[in-house]
Amino acid sequence: MTVKAPAEDAELAAYRARVRAWLAEHAPEDWAEKLPYADEAEVLEFYRAWARELHSAGLLVPQWPERFGGAGTGLAQQVVLQQEMSRAGAPRPRYLAISLGHAAATLMEHGSPEQQKLLDGILDGDVWCQGFSEPGAGSDLASLRTRAVREGDSYVVNGQKIWSSMGLYARWGLLLARTDPDAPKHRGISLFILDMRAPGVEVRPIRQATGAHEFAEVFLTDVRIPASMLVGKENDGWRLAQTTLATERYAQMVELHAGLEELLALLVRQARRLRAADGGPLVEDSEFRQRLAAFAGEVEVLGLINDRVLGDISAGRDPGARGSILKLYFSRLLQRLTAFGVRSNGLAAHVDPRRKNDLSYTSGDWMLDHIRSWTWTIAAGSNEIQRNIIGERVLGLPREPR
Ligand SMILES: Cc1cc2nc3c(=O)[nH]c(=O)nc-3n(C[C@H](O)[C@H](O)[C@H](O)COP(=O)(O)OP(=O)(O)OC[C@H]3O[C@@H](n4cnc5c(N)ncnc54)[C@H](O)[C@@H]3O)c2cc1C
Repeated sequence: MTVKAPAEDAELAAYRARVRAWLAEHAPEDWAEKLPYADEAEVLEFYRAWARELHSAGLLVPQWPERFGGAGTGLAQQVVLQQEMSRAGAPRPRYLAISLGHAAATLMEHGSPEQQKLLDGILDGDVWCQGFSEPGAGSDLASLRTRAVREGDSYVVNGQKIWSSMGLYARWGLLLARTDPDAPKHRGISLFILDMRAPGVEVRPIRQATGAHEFAEVFLTDVRIPASMLVGKENDGWRLAQTTLATERYAQMVELHAGLEELLALLVRQARRLRAADGGPLVEDSEFRQRLAAFAGEVEVLGLINDRVLGDISAGRDPGARGSILKLYFSRLLQRLTAFGVRSNGLAAHVDPRRKNDLSYTSGDWMLDHIRSWTWTIAAGSNEIQRNIIGERVLGLPREPR
């Protein structure tokens, strides 16, 4: 059930055919069974090797400008690429998501030529993390308290970050720290590139309910960051970080619809061999079929909203509250669909405790996928924050008290 990207013209159809043919020949086959049982080093190496292979075919970062190693393709191609990856059951290099997306976009837009040289490392598999959130600064990120004080040609940094995805594996980090404690809170923040191997950087894993260590806490004690690793100007970090945050949101939009389609297709395949309560094939059970059809309809609707949001972004328009509607609807739908997958699969959906290292929400291990679906209700702006935005900008409700 492949939904075509909006306005798929001959050029886009040719792109789809090329991607499909390449994936048919090159996508690894047994990774989904093996990888969740491998150790972390093996998993990382697998994703690095796969990323290099994708890059050699021009399919890792086709959206990057040519001068940085991409092909400058638009959002429509990115959507097609994600759809075809889903269709082929190909692995997404999730451990590199922040490197290839958030970090790269920030370096390209705001980095100095020296800083932009780090993009070569990204293409070679360097993992980056994003050190923005702190224990007291999440939704209200501008309250962050990590301090960076200029001393000669470096900054001395003290503080703590939390929920740093890939922090455990990261070679580099994007770091927000306060450089002017007396300025209004959005204005005294700077953006740095943090060498995760620098003395004083301590990374502690956070184990999630899924068993993975996707996140880490990062403690910073008298860490020296060379002034050359300040991105842009001092105290301009809040503005620059908007590039990072926008990339986080948009990267999700490119793949979220394909992910839901992948789950639906998986469920249909499984239902052919699962049994309903009356002993007959689940795929012939009328209640199952009705519910599945209702989900298929919702996924289609979500795809249409997604197309409009992507259309806005392609045209250089801010999708505004529509982006919030999409995020809210997607995360709720993902929760409901994975819960339906759990119920439909019965005992078989329950977690295999040996399974780890799986960051995907389309693994087909439904309980894990369901647990992971909750992350989407928090990351990139929690659902409550999205509801605030919808309430104020769409429904015209009074602003929340601050
Ligand atoms: C999968 C995932 C990946 C992440 N990766 C990173 C990363 O790589 N780097 C990084 O820096 N951070 C990362 N985060 C952290 C994420 O940005 C924060 O969790 C998020 O901003 C929420 O902040 P918080 O956890 O401090 O919760 P809080 O902001 O403390 O919120 C607690 C609760 O209060 C609600 N709430 C807060 N403010 C309001 C309000 N104004 N109105 C109504 N309700 C409100 C929230 O919705 C939530 O339910 C990640 C989080 C997740 C889930």
